[in-house]
Amino acid sequence: MPVRTRIAPSPTGDPHVGTAYIALFNQVFAHSQNGVFVLRIEDTDQQRSTPASEEAILSSFKWLGLQWDEGPDKTGPYGPYRQSERLPLYQKYAKQLIKNQQAFYCFCSTERLNQLRKKKISDKKTPGYDGHCLQLTTSQVTEYLSANTAYVIRMKVPQEGVCEIQDMLRGTITIPWQQIDMQILLKSDGWPTYHLANVVDDYCMKITHVIRGEEWINSAPKHQLLYQYFNWTMPILCHMPLLRNPDKSKLSKRKNPTSINYYRDMGYLPEAMINYLARMGWSMPDEQEQFTLQTMQTHFNIKRISLGGPIFDQEKLAWLNGLWIRNSLTDAQFKARLLEWLLQINDYDTLLPLLKSRIHTFRDIAAQTVFLFSDAPELNISDFESLMTSLDITKQYLQFILWRLEATDVWESDCLFLTLKTLASQLNIKINQLMPMIFITICGSLKSWSIVDSMVLLGPNITRTRFKKAIDLLGGISKKQVKTYEKIYHHLADISTNT
Ligand code: GLU
Repeated sequence: MPVRTRIAPSPTGDPHVGTAYIALFNQVFAHSQNGVFVLRIEDTDQQRSTPASEEAILSSFKWLGLQWDEGPDKTGPYGPYRQSERLPLYQKYAKQLIKNQQAFYCFCSTERLNQLRKKKISDKKTPGYDGHCLQLTTSQVTEYLSANTAYVIRMKVPQEGVCEIQDMLRGTITIPWQQIDMQILLKSDGWPTYHLANVVDDYCMKITHVIRGEEWINSAPKHQLLYQYFNWTMPILCHMPLLRNPDKSKLSKRKNPTSINYYRDMGYLPEAMINYLARMGWSMPDEQEQFTLQTMQTHFNIKRISLGGPIFDQEKLAWLNGLWIRNSLTDAQFKARLLEWLLQINDYDTLLPLLKSRIHTFRDIAAQTVFLFSDAPELNISDFESLMTSLDITKQYLQFILWRLEATDVWESDCLFLTLKTLASQLNIKINQLMPMIFITICGSLKSWSIVDSMVLLGPNITRTRFKKAIDLLGGISKKQVKTYEKIYHHLADISTNT
């Protein structure tokens, strides 16, 4: 049977380096064995999935040089490759489980489930469904259904004993069934949850190996049970170690930029990015540092993956990128890549009119645009001391702005301006009080052209990173402080929705 692997990203938010890392190992594993690598879009979370995010995932994967054989942008024998286009399939399989009494209708109201959760938490028990609707008689179920009562379909799970999972890298993993909830498989709107859709699709797409992040280990018992219920052979599981921040915590955008687009916009070469992601937990037999995707594939042996949490360290990545620039690009290629980057990082329709109205000669351009083409400005606390707000308040406001920017999908001048203006009015201050701190954060000086235009030119990833750097410079925010800030911040949003 040919090896078939898949990457199954959910199109929510920015394309994450962790997703690219898992995609890389799936691709290399499949292609090193003449197998097939599939890209499947798991867009069953209707609230959070967006076409823009799907588009960003595909384009960032292409930029990295990843090559999937089947996917939503390609043909293939097992499509469609977008879960939102496969709903009847999941509904059919959910009904089959009901028929075989391996799943049940649950008519519990949200209030009842909320109360149940609160009670379990106060009793210090693992939150989870208590099996209430398992007690319903067949005629009660028929009655509810004919009255069109809203329902979800949940899977039955054993209440005792342990589940043993086999993992390619970790051997046998044992998880007590008590920890496993009677998972909802089909929601009241007829959409599947991740678990049902993922298992059905892995089966229907003939996936032989599931290589994914270790955060999914706890889902494996549910998946294994579903395979047993359906009488299907389960793919071989391989849970990869998670990428970590230098302080060993799980890689998070609070501490490290995680968007692939950030690294593209910062001027990293895709070959260096792929090389670095390959080095996360894996090494070449001769331990060489610099190698191509093709070389990795030739020498790939999944057993060489080490389970110690690989650290995603920007300094090492920058070092490796320098190596690629020096060792692997001819001068002509270097020039071509540089021009490509310059063209790609800027929206020249926005930039050129701004420049035209401000310069006398082309040599004036560098001074005007230094903040666009360099890394974040070198700031000192004293840069913020001259502002009207205290350093503490400045830090708080910068964090509020960052949260608003993180929630902003439309990265256009008018929209950004409105976002800032709304925040200022919710804070009961004039927008002119927010502007200077933004100027310093973004450009390093109070003199520049319109700050929202600058933010558009820099793009969301670089802009947000500059805010994080400024917040860190002002002392960073402890977990406790985050909670306090969040309270104030949510209160602001409430005030505006109530008025
Ligand atoms: N949609 C899941 C994700 O967002 C896929 C997890 C898996 O590979 O099973 O990562």
